[in-house]
Amino acid sequence: MYMSHLECPKCSAKHDPHKITQLCPECGAPLLVRYDLNKVKANLKKEDLVSRKPDLWRYRELLPLVDDKYKVTLGEGMTPLLALDKLGNKLGVELYLKDEGIIPSGTFKSRGAAVGVSRAKELGVKSLAMPTNGNAGASWAIYSAKADIDAYIVMPVDAPAITRNECAIAGAKLYLVNGLISDAGKIVGRAVAKLGCMDASTLKEPYRIEGKKTMGLEIAEQLNWEVPDVILYPTGGGVGLIGIYKAFRELQQLGWIGDKMPRMVAVQAEGCAPIVKAWEEKKTASEFWNNASTVAFGITVPKALGDFLVLDAIYQTNGCAVAVTDEAILKDQAELAAAEGAFVCPEGAANYTAAKKLRESGWIKPGEKVVLLNTGAGLKYPDTVQVAVPVLEPEQDIPV
Ligand SMILES: *Cc1c(COP(=O)(O)O)cnc(C)c1O
Ligand SMILES: [Zn+2]
Repeated sequence: MYMSHLECPKCSAKHDPHKITQLCPECGAPLLVRYDLNKVKANLKKEDLVSRKPDLWRYRELLPLVDDKYKVTLGEGMTPLLALDKLGNKLGVELYLKDEGIIPSGTFKSRGAAVGVSRAKELGVKSLAMPTNGNAGASWAIYSAKADIDAYIVMPVDAPAITRNECAIAGAKLYLVNGLISDAGKIVGRAVAKLGCMDASTLKEPYRIEGKKTMGLEIAEQLNWEVPDVILYPTGGGVGLIGIYKAFRELQQLGWIGDKMPRMVAVQAEGCAPIVKAWEEKKTASEFWNNASTVAFGITVPKALGDFLVLDAIYQTNGCAVAVTDEAILKDQAELAAAEGAFVCPEGAANYTAAKKLRESGWIKPGEKVVLLNTGAGLKYPDTVQVAVPVLEPEQDIPV
């Protein structure tokens, strides 16, 4: 076991990792897991990974689970890093897609759920509750089912319909709210107090980040321990971006990568861009975004608890934050599928739109190595594709 303690990034207080802890008891900020990295360094070489199974547990020493018998796995992780040659040539960069669409439940949320639920089980949690824009709820529902943990899930009525089915069939206690994820969060807050269950809201427990961190570890391993120049991430709560940044910092401390950090880009939709606004105003925290709305439903987060960590990762890496329109997202979703065979989710497509914008402005330079995170499968959002398909009678021919 290499986990040493939980640390507060705001007030620097250290906390015991061996009991259920939610936010920092001192100041209310989200907590980060820390490891004895010198010990990891002494006992693990990157070459050791080669013979391990292709899932996220290959980075066992950098994960918070104490005893493997509590591991709850559905085969998540080690997703492909696909070269997008055609679109890359068009943009004049080396373009890659980290495709999270093939993970259980079809989104990267299952990385957070695998590690978060495993730790919850290890700590003796019997029930948990969470607000969600759909995908996280679906992932936590299936892993909770496997772990015999009761999951209370609250999502907006407008969340992707398939995520309801996923929660329901996995036996979660599912509720819809006439409102946004922030409203679902209020309901969950009251439920946690009343039912005494663990609060699995984004960043209110420290282990989800550790699961999402493995995207960064995989990108480094897949690029043979040379980090890319730029990573674009569709940012809602920002957990993935915070996690990827944390992964690279840990790899630096292990000496597995050099000093260079990828420039982290937070991509948001114009209809909900609190992080972009804060970045443009050079602030270290965001403000609540009123009337949030976008087709990229997973990033409809009006105010993220970890906004200060997202902004810090951007500033520390000379990154930036970009907002794109829904119209461009949908057009680029079609372009990605038609050119590269990649049917990505709207959130994933937003990264490609942002990359084009940053290439045009010169922020991304010719020949740079650019990774787009596709956070989920386009299959989960069938309604974003509008098609008019000709219908033939059996005796009719295809018009030539
Ligand atoms: C949740 C989600 C996001 C945003 O993830 P965060 O790490 O919370 O910012 C992006 N894309 C999809 C498909 C999601 O479900
Ligand atoms: Zn604190």
